[in-house]
Amino acid sequence: MEQGDFFKETMKFIADRTLGKLAKGLRMLGYDTVYYRGDDFHQLIHIARQEGRILVTRNTKLALRRPKDHIITLTENHPSRQLEELIRKGKLSFNDEVPFTRCIPCNGPLEDIPRDQAEGKVPDFIFHQQKDFFHCRRCDKIYWQGSHLGNMQKRVKELLHIKSENRNSGEASRRDQFETISND
Ligand SMILES: [Zn+2]
Repeated sequence: MEQGDFFKETMKFIADRTLGKLAKGLRMLGYDTVYYRGDDFHQLIHIARQEGRILVTRNTKLALRRPKDHIITLTENHPSRQLEELIRKGKLSFNDEVPFTRCIPCNGPLEDIPRDQAEGKVPDFIFHQQKDFFHCRRCDKIYWQGSHLGNMQKRVKELLHIKSENRNSGEASRRDQFETISND
């Protein structure tokens, strides 16, 4: 199995506490991403191993100490730059991503629900406007093609655009794409 295959098959991430916005961006792109808020690096590494996750960190010492683990050390500060850095380092395969399959706040899987199950749980005008609803199995949040999903979709398209512009140094104009993804 080539290394590329490994990443395709098992591309799941865990992001350290400094990478909350990047974690949300990865979820938006459909990647199963745990955001680790603690400061215990042993636990961080433990979870990564247990769950077969690629560890994304800004701590430069981690990769040196754990050469066998899948650790990506990012040097960029800004979330969209960090995403570009992941792309540059060949760790993201945009061909495989499945946008809109993850809940952004909680990382739970999204599933289609019958329209009538959304009734009363979303604003009436939304219910009457929209045909398709999705539901997070973990936190119960409901998404639809309108506002929520629409905004997500727009950002993901922008992110995919980074890919087509490809690994060029990443222009300043793309820096702000993550700006509006709120932190917790
Ligand atoms: Zn959720």
